[in-house]
Amino acid sequence: MGGPEVLIRAPAKVNIGLEVVRKRRDGYHEIRTLFQAVSLADRIRLRKRRRGIRLDCPGVPGRKEQNLAWCAAALFLERTEAGGGLHIDLDKRIPVGGGLGGGSSDAAAVLLGASRLFGLKPPAEDLAAWAGELGSDVPFFLFGGAAVGSGRGERIEPLRGKVPPGRLLIYAPPFSSSTAEVYSDHRRRRLTGAGERLTLLVRKWRRAGAAGIGGALFNDLERTVLRRHPELTEAKDLLLAHGAAGAQVSGSGSCLFGIYATPRQAARAAGALRGRLPGKLTVARFLPPRLRWGVVKR
Ligand code: ATP
Repeated sequence: MGGPEVLIRAPAKVNIGLEVVRKRRDGYHEIRTLFQAVSLADRIRLRKRRRGIRLDCPGVPGRKEQNLAWCAAALFLERTEAGGGLHIDLDKRIPVGGGLGGGSSDAAAVLLGASRLFGLKPPAEDLAAWAGELGSDVPFFLFGGAAVGSGRGERIEPLRGKVPPGRLLIYAPPFSSSTAEVYSDHRRRRLTGAGERLTLLVRKWRRAGAAGIGGALFNDLERTVLRRHPELTEAKDLLLAHGAAGAQVSGSGSCLFGIYATPRQAARAAGALRGRLPGKLTVARFLPPRLRWGVVKR
């Protein structure tokens, strides 16, 4: 089939720091987090169709109409003058339910990619509002790079500066973790601070970069995730024992990441740990803002 198409990458994120500030009246938790986009990414192909949405996404559980890529397409077609339909091919590489924001990134990529496919330029504030409607983590993926997220995570303040030179080793265990369940478990714990730890972490991140930040990583949800999945403690210890400057759960899990000073150290750790852990290990880079390799073909 001919016709224009857009190929776009939807990168994963890790939370370098995540502070749960308080529980709000609307049931959500107020958080402050330092997001960082990484090179592990889903691949998405968008094509026009006469009407309606078609989504091909082998391996993603659940009804297609509930897939965030589908929801983003539906919202885009409803709110813009695109005047047609969308065919989405989603090649899923980011572990599902891993705390790496895969679904949210797919949604942001569909909003950006569809804008390009239809030659539309929705105002930035509209895109941000649509992204916020789709999910708390979606607005971050309109920017990528490193950013501080506040509110439910949807208020984004991009950070400028060089991309940290280190590497990440991402460990995806053979199970997922439910964000809703982790937050509801967390509710019973003491909520701390007013986002100050995150401010200190950001300062350190700017100064010391990825490898220098090692022991300063933190995630208020980690204890809850490790309690629900004790085998992750062992995996985290293995990452640290194999040269990681720091290691922790990303978001509400189930994935862990370790930060390494050099690509070589990360590759060596991956080699040593393959076969010792039941899940999947991936070496990844930190991504600068807006790096998506979007291509339009005619
Ligand atoms: P969250 O913290 O938002 O739950 P996550 O990074 O832990 O995100 P995701 O892989 O984004 O996990 O998705 C978690 C849930 O969202 C799964 O139950 C999955 O069925 C559903 N989902 C909806 N759309 C997608 C998508 N495009 N890719 C992956 N999961 C999706």
